Amino acid sequence: MTNESKSLKPFLSLLLSSQFPKRLLFAGLLASVLTTIAGLVVPLLTKNLVDDFSFSSLSTPLIAAIGIAFIVQTVVSGLSIYWLSVVGYKVVSSLRDRMWIKLIRLPVSYYDKQSSGEIVSRVVNDTSVVQDLISNRFPQFISGIISIIGAIIILLLMDWKMTMLMLISVPLTIVIMFPLGRQMAKISRGLQDETAAFTGHVQQTLGEIRLMKASTAEQSEETKGLEGIGRLFDFGLKEARIFALISPIMYLVVMVVIVMIIGYGGMRVSNGTMSTGSLVAFLLYLFQIIMPITSFAMFFTQLQKAKGATERIISILDLPLEPGQDGISLDIKHEPIVVENVSFAYSEEEPVLKNISFAAQPGEMIAFAGPSGGGKTTMFGLLERFYEPSAGEIRIGAVPITDLSMASWRSQIGYVSQESAMMAGTIRENLVYGLKDRKSISDEQLWEVSKMAYADQFIKEFPNGLDTEVGERGVKLSGGQRQRIAIARAFLRDPKILMMDEATASLDSQSEGIVQEALTRLMEGRTTFVIAHRLSTIVDADRIIFIEKGQVTGTGTHEELIQSHNLYREFAEQQLA
Ligand code: ADP
Ligand code: MG
Repeated sequence: MTNESKSLKPFLSLLLSSQFPKRLLFAGLLASVLTTIAGLVVPLLTKNLVDDFSFSSLSTPLIAAIGIAFIVQTVVSGLSIYWLSVVGYKVVSSLRDRMWIKLIRLPVSYYDKQSSGEIVSRVVNDTSVVQDLISNRFPQFISGIISIIGAIIILLLMDWKMTMLMLISVPLTIVIMFPLGRQMAKISRGLQDETAAFTGHVQQTLGEIRLMKASTAEQSEETKGLEGIGRLFDFGLKEARIFALISPIMYLVVMVVIVMIIGYGGMRVSNGTMSTGSLVAFLLYLFQIIMPITSFAMFFTQLQKAKGATERIISILDLPLEPGQDGISLDIKHEPIVVENVSFAYSEEEPVLKNISFAAQPGEMIAFAGPSGGGKTTMFGLLERFYEPSAGEIRIGAVPITDLSMASWRSQIGYVSQESAMMAGTIRENLVYGLKDRKSISDEQLWEVSKMAYADQFIKEFPNGLDTEVGERGVKLSGGQRQRIAIARAFLRDPKILMMDEATASLDSQSEGIVQEALTRLMEGRTTFVIAHRLSTIVDADRIIFIEKGQVTGTGTHEELIQSHNLYREFAEQQLA
């Protein structure tokens, strides 16, 4: 129990730190209490009505009182439901806001480890669980407690012997409901995890639909998917079994108690020690005691769920932001880039880069070559600040790049990779994606950069021109078209530093030629880092850095390396022959 109350703390502090109208929560709870009290009054009035009925005519004030109690209950209960729902949704919005703001600012390394489908499930499902608890279960619980306490007090005052008889149902209900509730909590926790895993799997598979089909993986995906669905089904069954136990058992308990009360009460009524009205009131109060107890089981189940959900939400909210959220802004145009003794590992065990040093003067072209898996792309990741070096430093002039704000640094870097990523949307949206002043960018400008990237021709040929939809991840375009749009994007941003990672590797020789020309144009006047799968594109580099197994094994011009570096010579002979 202490354990449980301890783990409630994060839940409460998360709630308190959320932006929601606290007054509205208070008003909603108050209204809910008022509803309950009005509900408690009704049986009392009914009792008087029934008793009056037996010896005189109908009492108008009494009927009016019952009417008012009903109206108050209806109206106030409506208000309470609405207000508490508003609070619940506000909490969810606020949590989702905070999660989203966080998620887009987490470092790349977080997404290396986490399946994006599971994260989706956290943002969507886990927050809904919290909402349900606040809007529904929590008020139900509060008014339930009031209802029970109120009803018991009234009954004790009315007739304590009958009350004691009726209260037999309480321990009985508790004994039945609590183990079921505990079971339920376990199931729903499993259900949540399974749902998250399933969401992740669906998203992953559908996201790589071509790979799946090309690998004729339908059969194995079918099995995997159906297994997941089967596990969800099993949880559903377990849940159904518990639900199937709860209502009939509760019905049985209620019926047994009703029969006992009617039996005993009927006896008392016939020997004159109890009025008929009291008996009716007893039966009405019975429901006001039993029903809340039933809902308590749901409350504790939901509370368990919400605790689990909160832990996961907090684990996201507590993650450290990507560094460089603030920092200086610096124009890096005329500054050299210095990489000094940089080492890096994705995971502790395996160093990927070891003690790398080089420098690039403004306007220079530095090429990286070396066997696949040597760490070239990783070096670009460090330059882009997707990851931070575990040792060593990268400077721009005399300033460590970590002093610059991420926004200032990255906005001055153009990155063209082998497979240029695209957002679903139009070509225009992709060109201006992320730019602050995208509204003020004219069509002329877009056409101009498209022309520089040799992309204007094919864009013109689309019936919708710049407003052509590219499809998810740009699937409606060819590889060469995507590359040229990526280059046009880079032109539009006018980056000071350019990084190109095997930008033509996946293209056929015709598009490769065009894209290479566009790239050469883009490189003019900028400091450029190139990873080339073809040496022909880097023979003109000011310096070639040969990286093998995370280490620089040679630096120099093409001629120098041909002279001094055996592996480079082999590479060159293979490719340039
Ligand atoms: P290159 O671009 O020279 O072919 P990479 O920089 O892509 O080489 O990869 C260097 C090494 O780092 C490889 O052994 C690769 O398995 C590993 N690696 C690359 N990306 C990641 C990552 N996100 N997480 C863990 N290891 C990675
Ligand atoms: Mg690579």
